[in-house]
Amino acid sequence: MRGAVLHAPGDVRFEEREKPEISKPTDALIRTVATCVCGSDLWSYRGINTVAEPAPFGHEYVGIVEEVGGEVGRIKPGQFVIGSFFASDDTCAVCRAGYHTSCQNREYFGGCQSEYIRIPLADGTLVATPDQPDQALVPGLLALSDVMGTGWYAAVAAEVEPGSTAVVVGDGAVGLCGVIAAKALGAERIIAMSRHAARQRLATELGATDIVTERGADGVEHIKELTGGVGADSVLECVGTGESMQQALHSARPGGNVGFVGVPHGVELSGTELFYSHVGLRGGPAPVRAFLPDLIDRVWTGSIDPGKVFDLTLPLAQVADAYKAMDERRAIKVLLEP
Ligand SMILES: [Zn+2]
Repeated sequence: MRGAVLHAPGDVRFEEREKPEISKPTDALIRTVATCVCGSDLWSYRGINTVAEPAPFGHEYVGIVEEVGGEVGRIKPGQFVIGSFFASDDTCAVCRAGYHTSCQNREYFGGCQSEYIRIPLADGTLVATPDQPDQALVPGLLALSDVMGTGWYAAVAAEVEPGSTAVVVGDGAVGLCGVIAAKALGAERIIAMSRHAARQRLATELGATDIVTERGADGVEHIKELTGGVGADSVLECVGTGESMQQALHSARPGGNVGFVGVPHGVELSGTELFYSHVGLRGGPAPVRAFLPDLIDRVWTGSIDPGKVFDLTLPLAQVADAYKAMDERRAIKVLLEP
């Protein structure tokens, strides 16, 4: 089978790899229907994360179950499934508390930008759709594998409530999904921070009521102006830089909450500042699996359409072009079809 391999920064190749096999009785093997490139893949592509040796890449997927191990009971061959980027058992105390990405038995797996994927702990990790989806639903379902679940978690962690004001820092796919989540959770005012016309338009289409283009102190000042001088109830931090985290913390009102889901790179916080800010902070790798049943239902019934964040579709064989387009910000998110 063939798949994407990152050889060095800027060097993604579509090449022959060994087809994965069931190696544990709890595994499933799926045939990929669609996969995509994540903003977090760009950290390695840009050389910000070290690339020590050629590595299969990608962690987002939807597919058809081809084969299951002897101990898999709930997931069955032929089902259309979605899973998260960490495998989880869905039964341990941490999973039962809703934090599947910290599952006590979690397993990491990658290499999902490929024709076949081995999914560990299949019964806990995968969720099947009610039926085979129409082609038009595939992008929305694929988004649930990471970006929409992550945007949802940002909104939940920031405690978005009906009637509240939410700020979304970051206009990438996760930030745009954060807008969808804030709207679905009932935020009355959703302020998207974005400097890109196309992304501003999409944010507005998805539910943003205001756009703030300034950053830093000017950005905070504009947020304060829009929120009666106090700041927002909830702030969704969807970037992961020191600058974006400061932006988020300073945009929240005293007693407000920041949900941070951008993988931190160079983020340092002052304990003293946090103490006096009265701002609540929760983040981490989104427990996407916890949200899948609810989010699949919302996509299936058309109440949300996170598939809109994909603005380019390419054959998987052109995965190198997909990385380039996202790196150069020519595309928000690229869907890849094997
Ligand atoms: Zn668990």
